[in-house]
Parts: sequence; structure tokens; C-alpha cells
Amino acid sequence: MPKIRRSKKPPPEGWELIEPTLEELEAKMREAETDSHEGKRKSETVWPIFKIHHQKSRYIYDLFYRRKAISRELYDYCIKEKIADANLIAKWKKQGYENLCCLRCIQTRDTNFATNCICRVPKAKLEEGRIVECVHCGCRGCSG
Ligand SMILES: [Zn+2]
Ligand SMILES: [Zn+2]
Repeated sequence: MPKIRRSKKPPPEGWELIEPTLEELEAKMREAETDSHEGKRKSETVWPIFKIHHQKSRYIYDLFYRRKAISRELYDYCIKEKIADANLIAKWKKQGYENLCCLRCIQTRDTNFATNCICRVPKAKLEEGRIVECVHCGCRGCSG
């Protein structure tokens, strides 16, 4: 089974503390990829993959920016090894994008209405009781 670590270079200090969580998410990712697609809409089958991708980046982001629990060196390492998504994290630093689910949902050309994805519409602006479920990643609303 492939390890998360891809390069031969030894990882920075602290790696052993985050490795178990990353291994766990990686295992979930593999599971999601091989999961039976029976009875699901085609778009739905990729939702867990987006979700886990989000979780991995979020984990690293929180550790570094919020909890300050990992070093800059380890953070950079995770970005370089593509364990965390640098582009997604760059968005999280912007106001209003703190909880952004995935990059696709802000690519306007991908939606039917040439606007942001439904999950990016602030709750206050939605019709009452409307259930949000984005088709790209299954997000239930991530604005603000
Ligand atoms: Zn979203
Ligand atoms: Zn999304």
C-alpha cells in the first residue's frame, strides 16, 4: 500500500504527530474511490472524494494557522507533497471564503446560471426552507 509520503526526503519534525490522521483520511479516500457506485447519481460518487480532500487540507490549515501546532517547515512540506491543497487554503484566508468547500464551486463557468454555485449563496438570501445541495461536491452551504 502506498504511503502518503511521496518523496524520499525525510519529513520535518512533527510529521509523526500528524501522520496517523493523514493515513486515516488517505484510507478513507481509497475506500471512497473503490466504493460501489450502485444506486447513486454519477455526480454523487465523487462527493466523498471532495469531502476528504477538503478534510485533509482543513486539518493542516487548522494546525498551522489556528492552533499553531505545526511548524512552517512541516506546513510547507504538506503543501509540497500535495497533502494539503494550497489553492484551497489561499481561499480560506479570504473573508467570506473561510468555509469554502472546493474550488469548483467558485468557478462560475461551471454552473448553469453563470453565477457561483448554490452552496455559495448566503443562507439569508435563500428562500426559506430551501435545501441546498450542490451537485459538484454535495456541499450544503459554505458561504460566510
Ligand atoms: Zn460549497
Ligand atoms: Zn464545492
